[in-house]
Amino acid sequence: MHRNALPFVPSPWSVSIAAERVERLAALAERAVREGDPELARERVRVARRIAERHRLDLPTRFKRFTCDACDAWLVPGRNCRVRTRDGHVVYACDCGELARYPY
Ligand SMILES: [Zn+2]
Repeated sequence: MHRNALPFVPSPWSVSIAAERVERLAALAERAVREGDPELARERVRVARRIAERHRLDLPTRFKRFTCDACDAWLVPGRNCRVRTRDGHVVYACDCGELARYPY
């Protein structure tokens, strides 16, 4: 049997490495948007999501807030998304049209 066919079993060690990678990818995704490369940011967001899923990690709140569920964009208010407050919610509107609402 090929090595890659073995099931992947997360260990506490691999999970903490994974959490660090997610954090680093989030920072790199934000930087990519600020440097004018939103597609690179999307790739980094997707890689981070895959890592989290594979290790059954909860994505950090910051990651959930500042990513678009529809197009995987890293959201930078004033740059590629608009932020409004409404009826006790913060509404993030991605440039792709997706809205995300969070109570505050
Ligand atoms: Zn979007």
